[in-house]
Amino acid sequence: MVSSWGRLGQWEHELRPLAERAQLPRQLQAAGPGLAHGMGRSYGDVCLNPGGVLWRTTGLDRFISFDQDSGLLRCEAGLLLRDIQRLALPRGWMLPVTPGTQLVTVGGAIANDVHGKNHHAQGSFGDHVRRLELLRTDGRRIDCGPQHEPAWFAATVGGLGLTGVISTAELQLRRVAGPWLETETLPYASLDEFFQLADASESGWEHTVSWIDCLSGKGRGIFLRANHCAAAGRAVPPARARSMPFVPPVSLVNQFSLAPFNSAYFNLQKSRAGKALAHYEKYFYPLDNLHEWNRMYGPRGFYQYQSVVPRAVGRAAVQAMLQAIAASGEGSFLAVLKTFGERPAPGMLSFPQPGVTLALDFPNRGERTLRLFERLDAIVGEAGGRIYMAKDARMPRALFEAGYPRLAEFTQYRDPGISSAMSRRLMGN
Ligand SMILES: Cc1cc2nc3c(=O)[nH]c(=O)nc-3n(C[C@H](O)[C@H](O)[C@H](O)COP(=O)(O)OP(=O)(O)OC[C@H]3O[C@@H](n4cnc5c(N)ncnc54)[C@H](O)[C@@H]3O)c2cc1C
Repeated sequence: MVSSWGRLGQWEHELRPLAERAQLPRQLQAAGPGLAHGMGRSYGDVCLNPGGVLWRTTGLDRFISFDQDSGLLRCEAGLLLRDIQRLALPRGWMLPVTPGTQLVTVGGAIANDVHGKNHHAQGSFGDHVRRLELLRTDGRRIDCGPQHEPAWFAATVGGLGLTGVISTAELQLRRVAGPWLETETLPYASLDEFFQLADASESGWEHTVSWIDCLSGKGRGIFLRANHCAAAGRAVPPARARSMPFVPPVSLVNQFSLAPFNSAYFNLQKSRAGKALAHYEKYFYPLDNLHEWNRMYGPRGFYQYQSVVPRAVGRAAVQAMLQAIAASGEGSFLAVLKTFGERPAPGMLSFPQPGVTLALDFPNRGERTLRLFERLDAIVGEAGGRIYMAKDARMPRALFEAGYPRLAEFTQYRDPGISSAMSRRLMGN
C-alpha cells in the first residue's frame, strides 16, 4: 500500500525497486504500465499508480562525476538533493534551485520542475539541467538537453514522469561562499505591503518568500528575504531531528487550533524582525527535521492547494481567495505567498509562470473542503492562472487544460507504457 505526502488514502501497488542502470531497459519493458516513484514527497496523485507498478528509484543513488572547477555534476536520478548539497557545499557549490524539502530525488525534482524561493533570480530546477538520459519502456534511450533533442527535454522537464524514466542527469551547480545566508524578517500588515516588499526586494535579494495569515482578513504576514554570504568560522548548529510519533485521531490543525496558532506564529516572527544569519538547512528546509509531520493532519490526511496567477491581477485574485477561505470556515497554517519572475519555463507543463503563487495546506474535511476548492478554482481560472500538479489531487480537467496550453504538444511525447492516477484523471489515460 502506498500513499503520497498528503496521506489522502493508501492504494495497492506492485513495487519494483530499480537499482542497476544496466538492468533498467529490461526492467521497464517487463512490467505493465508503470510509473517512476522517488520519495513520494508530492502531495497528491502525480506519483501514484493504483493497481499498477511503481518503479522505486531511490536505489539509483550514485554520483557519477563532479567537476570542482566548473560545478558540473552527473548523477543517477534517484539521488537525494540532500546528498548533493552535502557533497557540494564543502567544495563551494550548491544546487541553484531547491524546494522546501531536500528529501526529494533528482528525478522527482525534474519531473515536477520544482521551484524554490529564488524563481525571480534562478528560474526553476529544469533551468539548471544540462542533459538527462530518458529510458522509454520500448527500450529506447534518449539523451536530451536544452541544446540537444530540446523537444524531448522540454517534454520531460515538468513532464510528471510520463515521458519515460530518467536514469541520469547532469546538473550545473552554482558557486556559494559557504552554507550561510544573511536573512531579513519583515512583518507586513496587508497585501499591498506584501507586493511593495516583493517589488523592492527582487533586485537586491536572491531568496524571497512570505508566510501569510489567511485568517486575519487583512492579509498580514511575515516576509523573509535572504542572500548567500560568507561567514567564516561560524559553527554549524547541531541538527536535532524529531518525529511525529503517531497519527492523532483528528487533525491537530482544526478550527480550534488555527486562529491561536496563526496569531502566535505571527507574533513570534514579528518579535524576531530584523537581520540574522541562517544555516542553509534551517533556512531552506525548516520542516525536514520533523519527520512525518504530515501525520499531524490525522487519519484523513490533507490537501495542498497551490496556484499561480498573473501579476497584473495577482492582488485582486489573492484577496478574493483569502476572502473565500475566511467565508468557508476552513483555514490553513502553512500558507505561503511569493512572486515568480518573468523567465519562460523550461518545460511544456512546468508550473511556474510570471505572477504570484499562493500555497495553502488544508486538513481534509471532505465535501466542505472540496466546495472551497471549487470557489478557489473559479478565481484561479478567471485570473488566467494554473494549479501545481505536484500538489494536486482533485483539480477538474477543464482547469488543467486551460492552465496548461502546451498540453496537446506534450501528449505526443508520452510513453504508452506509463500511466499515473493523475494522468488518468486529467488526461484520460
Ligand atoms: C515539505 C515539502 C516542501 C515542498 N516544497 C516545495 C517547493 O518549495 N517547491 C516545489 O516546487 N515543490 C515543493 N514540494 C514538492 C516536491 O518538491 C515535489 O513533489 C517533488 O517532485 C518530489 O520529489 P520526489 O522525489 O518525492 O518524487 P515523487 O513525489 O515520488 O514523484 C514526483 C513525480 O516525479 C516523477 N519521477 C520521479 N522520479 C522519476 C524519474 N527518475 N524519472 C521520471 N519521472 C520521475 C514521478 O513519476 C512523479 O510524477 C514540497 C514537498 C514537501 C513535502
